Amino acid sequence: MAADPEALSRREALAAYAAGTAGCTKCRLSSGRTQVVFGVGDPNADLMFVGEAPGFHEDKQGYPFVGQAGKLLDQLLGGIGLSREQVYIANVIKCRPPGNRDPQPDEIEACESHLFRQLELIRPKVVATLGNFATKLLSGKSHGITRVHGRPQETTLRDRPVLLYPLYHPAAALYTPAMLRTLEDDFARLPGLLAEEASPPAQVIPFPVPAAMVAAPSPQEQLGLF
Ligand code: SF4
Repeated sequence: MAADPEALSRREALAAYAAGTAGCTKCRLSSGRTQVVFGVGDPNADLMFVGEAPGFHEDKQGYPFVGQAGKLLDQLLGGIGLSREQVYIANVIKCRPPGNRDPQPDEIEACESHLFRQLELIRPKVVATLGNFATKLLSGKSHGITRVHGRPQETTLRDRPVLLYPLYHPAAALYTPAMLRTLEDDFARLPGLLAEEASPPAQVIPFPVPAAMVAAPSPQEQLGLF
């Protein structure tokens, strides 16, 4: 079967953008990183995860979510019949903050154009935000993850409708059994949300109904009028 040219060009465009980002020096985090951790997965994925920032192992290996939190993410994906090759995974911040501290507002502002470009190129239907930083940035609201996790929100990112689905960050759930159970429950809704987003919207019939959409009455019906 011939490869989809749009899918191919999307892969190439994302690879070219990743190559261009590898030398980014737009913020202070460039000075302490081993490498830019751009993202990993299927450039044509319907489901994209957005975490916070690379940690120690991610910085060394160049991929997001490769430590303990990454193992948990893989397990959660496996639990809903997916692998990381079938989704796309990225972070708000592409370079490791020193000592794994929280990203600072000016660093998020400097780096967000990379994430928005990824979203533009990948065009996911569902974006699962992992933790507070991704949720607040992509929802544009200040509500914390404890309040909004597991609640899908229709939103628009770069002029495209997207279903945002906030989740706890796997690193936060690693050592908190109650949070882990909640994360598993929220994850279990993902296949249903993806199926809903994949199905075409129901036809909306405008009112008043255009004459062209109204079947002409049969002669019998016409006769019944009198
Ligand atoms: S964190 Fe983002 S903006 Fe800052 S240097 Fe890295 S890639 Fe560039």
